[in-house]
Amino acid sequence: PVDRSPKLQEARLKLPILAEEQVIMEAVRENPCVVICGETGSGKTTQVPQFLYEAGYASGIIGITEPRRVAAVSMSHRVAKEMNLSTRVVSYQIRYEGNVTNETKIKFMTDGVLLKEIQKDFLLQRYSVVIIDEAHERSVYTDILIGLLSRIVPLRNKKGMPMKLLVMSATLRVEDFTDNQKLFQTPPPVIKVDARQFPVTIHFNKRTSLEDYTGEAFHKTCKIHRMLPPGTQSHILNKLNKEFPLIITSEDEEADTSEAMRKFKKAKQKKTVSLPRIDLDNYSALPVDEGDEDREAGIGDEEDEGSDLDIGDSPADTEEKKADPSIPLYVLPLYSLLAPEQQAKVFRPPPPGTRLCVVATNVAETSLTIPGIKYVVDCGRVKKRFYDRVTGVSSFKVTWTSQASANQRAGRAGRTEPGHCYRLYSSAVFGDFTLFSEAEITRRPVEDLVLQMKDLNIDKVVNFPFPTPPSAEALVAAEQLLVSLGALREPPCAGSVKEMERARLSCPITPLGKAMASFPVAPRYAKMLALGKQQDCLPYVIAVVATMTVREIFEDLDRPAHSGDESSKLTQRRARLTQMKRLWAGQGASLLLGDLMVMLGAVGACEFAGCTPKFCEENGLRFKAMVEIRRLRGQLTNAVNAVCPEVGVFVDPKMTPPTEHQVVCLRQIVLAGLGDHLARRVQREDILDPKWKNGYKTPLIDDPVFIHPTSALFKTLPEFVVYQEIMETTKMYMRGVSAVEGE
Ligand code: ADP
Ligand code: MG
Repeated sequence: PVDRSPKLQEARLKLPILAEEQVIMEAVRENPCVVICGETGSGKTTQVPQFLYEAGYASGIIGITEPRRVAAVSMSHRVAKEMNLSTRVVSYQIRYEGNVTNETKIKFMTDGVLLKEIQKDFLLQRYSVVIIDEAHERSVYTDILIGLLSRIVPLRNKKGMPMKLLVMSATLRVEDFTDNQKLFQTPPPVIKVDARQFPVTIHFNKRTSLEDYTGEAFHKTCKIHRMLPPGTQSHILNKLNKEFPLIITSEDEEADTSEAMRKFKKAKQKKTVSLPRIDLDNYSALPVDEGDEDREAGIGDEEDEGSDLDIGDSPADTEEKKADPSIPLYVLPLYSLLAPEQQAKVFRPPPPGTRLCVVATNVAETSLTIPGIKYVVDCGRVKKRFYDRVTGVSSFKVTWTSQASANQRAGRAGRTEPGHCYRLYSSAVFGDFTLFSEAEITRRPVEDLVLQMKDLNIDKVVNFPFPTPPSAEALVAAEQLLVSLGALREPPCAGSVKEMERARLSCPITPLGKAMASFPVAPRYAKMLALGKQQDCLPYVIAVVATMTVREIFEDLDRPAHSGDESSKLTQRRARLTQMKRLWAGQGASLLLGDLMVMLGAVGACEFAGCTPKFCEENGLRFKAMVEIRRLRGQLTNAVNAVCPEVGVFVDPKMTPPTEHQVVCLRQIVLAGLGDHLARRVQREDILDPKWKNGYKTPLIDDPVFIHPTSALFKTLPEFVVYQEIMETTKMYMRGVSAVEGE
């Protein structure tokens, strides 16, 4: 029996999925696997675990996987609150942290966490139900988990310990799961939940701007704010606020240090409330300066956009509801990497007398539902990492999203009342979008997955029941890399070409491979950890690996400045960072370790100073990256100790820099992991085309690759280098470069 608060119970009963509780539970009783489809916000994530709990499935753990850490944490808190249960019972586990106890009955986790658990116990005996949530996102781990669970569930039934599998998706495109004989012999039933969604009017732009979509998003948002009435929530707040005027004291402001809030308050004091300028890339908001105001005067001129703010169903001219542009916007950012406390703000009502405006990435597309959103401005773009399967070159590109995603975005406007979605592109452009986004597994290298699967004794990865299989080339490339790293054993070379091909795709795992699979990093880095025992290098290898797996440790000081003042500050900080980098790069032999030595030096210095936000700010380091590195160092240290307890490695916050001898070892270890990422400088006498000046040649790429001006090795340009990855921006640049040959 669950003792819910009447208020929360009332809100629950309004969710469309409540009407389907019987149908869902009956299907679950009668089938080992069930697919549930329902619009975002229909209540799948928060309610289905509760249905299962109340129907008596909590004899074991009810596990729910999310592709994003944000969702795992916030959903566990929400469900605990709705059920009036402690977080000891409704808990979460993500990569670094969790609050799971031995009383835990409902456990939210990231899909990677469950995959690791399958490695320890293939039958997942502690679980009575596993729910794979957000299956429409088609994240790599989600796909693998569904493949594995399609085998685990029948095995559990055979052993007389039945387990249920639920797959939940926000789109109806579930054929990859249901019409897939390899996956499920009997197709699982699909239950559709009709969302009680309010109508959302879609407004297309007549023209589609190909460049300045952030500027367009800003202008559209300003226009909405100036001309259209607020949604219900802020409407009520305004009324209340008029009735009972509230003077904000510094205590009421909580610990709200957000730049935007500060600026708004300042603007308010001056009684000249101006609209913020939103830079969609920076998540900071500034009041518009005079120069811009002039330019904005032209917005009222709607000639080429037509009456794009016409709203048919909610007249803007009633007394009750009207736009009031003097109300400040309360602008909040929302993206995955944002700290959880900051993220939680979007769920709370905005401060009295303000209007909420959330600037969000795809997180808000499906995984989180922000209450009370009435207008959605959709730029139609998505920023994705592209990876060239042949050359290994990565790049981030902003491309058009899919129709399914655009429709998801629009749907966010109709959660509490009829809404509007402004698409910053034309209906013709929309018509050219792909229907659905591709599964991630087809777009990235798969060596990490292949190693994990081999560790689960799945030797013939090609035969694995993937909902969408990765390409054969990607699988071959992965096995080859793993063989070269010593994680897999090369098959004996015999028989016909066909037989050899097949053998190349079913190499068995080696003891080294098993050790590598236990480290939560990509195989190249796992190899480095496995070699680190030598010459007391392990603490350094752990620190370097932790740093290499975090996306970017330096703050972006090349960003455009918003004022002259900021610009001169940035120049100062850049100079300081350059100086520090030179210091961290060390001297003599250390210099050859290049960028990796700089990373090691930066992490060492930061830890030595206690890893404070102040130190990071002063030295151009990203505080969040440093905190993540610290956690990862702890985790990798534990993982290494678990594999070879005799080394007894520990995290030393006062780690001294490596000796010359250790640097030599470190370079060899790095080379062992990055051996296929070798580049040779093109000799001056061989240059025929000027584009090769200072360029490097790699085995697979026809064009030159370069050392970035910010690299520690930019001035030296050693003959041979290894790199972490190649990122294409204005040129193809190597990242994380270290020298191979000592001159
Ligand atoms: P689905 O999984 O189908 O997208 P959810 O179960 O996530 O739906 O959400 C159901 C409802 O619960 C939504 O209307 C959402 O706004 C509300 N909700 C979810 N999390 C919170 C929260 N932390 N605070 C307030 N409301 C929430
Ligand atoms: Mg959900």
